[in-house]
Amino acid sequence: MNKPNQEDTEAVVVSNRTAPNGKGGALVVQGNKGKKWSIEASEELYRINGWGEPYFSINADGDVTVSPKGDRGGSLDLFELVEALRQRNLGLPLLIRFSDILEDRIERLNACFAKAIARYKYPGVYRGVFPVKCNQERHLIEDIVKFGEPYKFGLEAGSKPELTIALATLKTPGALVICNGYKDREYIETAILATRLGQTPIIVIEQLEEVQLAIEASKHLGIAPILGVRAKLRSRGIGHWGSSTGDRAKFGLSIPEIIRATDELNAAGMLDCLQLLHFHIGSQISSISVIKEAIREASQIYVELAKLGANMKYLDVGGGLAVDYDGSKTNFHASKNYGMQNYANDIVAEVKEACTERNLPVPTLISESGRAIASHQSVLIFDVLGTSEVRTTAPEPSEEEEHLILRNLYETYESIDADNYQEAYHDAFQFKEEATSLFNFGYLTLRERAKAEQLFWACCSKILTITREQKYVPDDLEDLEKIMASIYYINLSVFKSAPDSWAIDQLFPIMPIHRLEEEPTRRATLADLTCDSDGKIDQFIDLLDVKSLLELHPLKPGEPYYLGMFLTGAYQEIMGNLHNLFGDTNAIHINMTPNGYEIEHVVKGDTMTEVLGYVQYDSEDMVESIRQQTEQALKEGRITIAESQLLLQNYERSLRRYTYLTT
Ligand SMILES: *Cc1c(COP(=O)(O)O)cnc(C)c1O
Repeated sequence: MNKPNQEDTEAVVVSNRTAPNGKGGALVVQGNKGKKWSIEASEELYRINGWGEPYFSINADGDVTVSPKGDRGGSLDLFELVEALRQRNLGLPLLIRFSDILEDRIERLNACFAKAIARYKYPGVYRGVFPVKCNQERHLIEDIVKFGEPYKFGLEAGSKPELTIALATLKTPGALVICNGYKDREYIETAILATRLGQTPIIVIEQLEEVQLAIEASKHLGIAPILGVRAKLRSRGIGHWGSSTGDRAKFGLSIPEIIRATDELNAAGMLDCLQLLHFHIGSQISSISVIKEAIREASQIYVELAKLGANMKYLDVGGGLAVDYDGSKTNFHASKNYGMQNYANDIVAEVKEACTERNLPVPTLISESGRAIASHQSVLIFDVLGTSEVRTTAPEPSEEEEHLILRNLYETYESIDADNYQEAYHDAFQFKEEATSLFNFGYLTLRERAKAEQLFWACCSKILTITREQKYVPDDLEDLEKIMASIYYINLSVFKSAPDSWAIDQLFPIMPIHRLEEEPTRRATLADLTCDSDGKIDQFIDLLDVKSLLELHPLKPGEPYYLGMFLTGAYQEIMGNLHNLFGDTNAIHINMTPNGYEIEHVVKGDTMTEVLGYVQYDSEDMVESIRQQTEQALKEGRITIAESQLLLQNYERSLRRYTYLTT
């Protein structure tokens, strides 16, 4: 058998990630004093070529460009697009979807399988499906169906509500509707009846009880369904979703249960309905060896089921095809050490080998890739409302004789150089502590204490400029960068727009979408609009491990500063919640045209009235309550007519508006 070999697969560096900093120091961003900052330097810093290719890059103006059709031409300046959208009164945060990217992802996945099938002379076909749970938004699902039509691309439902979406939307003859998730009689009956509409639903048995439900429903309706079984494989994913399989997994049948299912179907004379084997070992499988092992195990179960008399025709490898969020091409959880072509090659080759050895016809291959299809198409744009920075300039020494502690701090500050910076740091720290004690005992005024603290920060800043030039930073100064970091306040709710960043520490690439020709001189964490201390982002992609600070530009007065969060198209929208009542963001669908782009749909974000409605408030009642209170206040002379009108106007207007801040 031909084994997939590396030469025509995407170039990957297979390496195990290890923490970059062994003992006693940290790698720091090299300062580049004297060197002029360049767009190439921004590319390297934000790793945009790693995670963005072929859709995102930086243009000569220093803005992020989007090439939604990949390498096939047509691009737009993301910064200019955002400005144009703002002129249309679309406030930030904005979720921008590029349908052409979605189309490109679907084409790529199908092309990879087609190539693998040709290469290994696989005598069967690939019929992918999109798992609806990954992003249920109507325009997106409709697009997937449309773009998938040439490939008979289908949909996967993980619940009864998702089945209703799949059945109403999918009209491609021959495309599959894979019915996963927990099922009741109604779910199973609906799926079976859909065969009468010309659909091809496959009911995947996830629980043993579903076997009898399917047998009864089929007998009752007189229609033979296509059934599948979901196997709990021994091969496990790694990382967050590692527990999606294995003996104690939530879903699927163990091997003894699979045997029981086939016996029950056999007894009912329905073993020929069992045609599919399904497995799903978890999402974001970052290591190709895990995928290979799973395919090998599943292929054996497949051929054994055929030997038991099942009419096997389909093998469904589930999801798990990963996205390289940090662009490092490693088996780190935010990355993957294989390309889409590797993935297809390995599946096709393994399955062919298993079937050929047993002289069995090969199955139609199905994958349920969600993340790999939907992530790239949406970009979240948000603005920075303000920053909080440590003041780093030293206060002017006063004319008069100052307190000894202040004189010591001045002296330390003046003396700092490349030879004594470590010692100087400890001195400054010591003096600052002493200043606090002196203050507590009444020997230092508030103004003097302020001066002492300011001097300490000035020392730190001076030391930091020195350590940034060093290749090696002593342990005790490692946190200096963090302590000195700025906080950038962003017009966004992490809970609404990037819930996985909060809930499971998922990394998404984040970078400014303009000013990339300029050196980003600030190091910052991001704080969101919610009054929750978890509403922050302090983990960012990096080549080595994860970094706790993001390099950003200082704000310019009167100018907006836009950041983009990329690869957010999978799972984030539906998982987002209404913490602090920040609602859905505005969403815009962009299509490329021969002369540029067009705005295909605008889906307005939630207004306050809508969000309040979710928690059973009626905005008219609320306005009425305020009106009555103003009347009372007027009667008692606590408010003027003009004030009461202004209050009511503001109150009513807010209710009609976006939940985010307008800048
Ligand atoms: C979630 C899920 C998928 C999608 O997984 P991705 O990693 O996003 O591709 C596919 N199949 C099943 C059964 C799932 O539960």
